[in-house]
Amino acid sequence: MCIFCKIINNEIPSKKVYEDEDVLAILDISQANKGHTLVMPKKHYENILDIDNNIYLKVMEVAKKVALKQKQALNCEGINLLNNCGEVAGQSVMHFHVHLIPRNKEDEIKFQFKDNSNKFDLDEVLKMVKL
Ligand code: 5GP
Ligand code: ZN
Repeated sequence: MCIFCKIINNEIPSKKVYEDEDVLAILDISQANKGHTLVMPKKHYENILDIDNNIYLKVMEVAKKVALKQKQALNCEGINLLNNCGEVAGQSVMHFHVHLIPRNKEDEIKFQFKDNSNKFDLDEVLKMVKL
């Protein structure tokens, strides 16, 4: 059983921010910033590719509730809402979860993307990924 399933089953303690029938939100043990919260489905799905649509929407609804509460209670200036899908993307717990990381001007957290657009033909890329 994965570590988040053990948390959901109360086999491992956690600091619960929100709980309902389908969704659990807990404080991340590593607190990238004050209030860093993880929102996850109670049923085990690995990632965004295999999660049930309805459950996904429920998780995102709770993520929004958590964001509103963080803004009000912590008076943060911004929030990063983040999901890592796959080990190569930084996923370390293979149970779908969304990070909500409150942000402030002086917090020194960096998510930096380099502009690589000169390496790709955007029309070709669009042809490949257009739904
Ligand atoms: P990922 O790297 O998969 O996107 O995020 C996993 C997150 O789970 C990490 O930020 C890590 O700190 C957190 N985490 C790992 N184990 C535990 C745990 O036992 N309890 C809590 N609350 N968070 C955990
Ligand atoms: Zn799990």
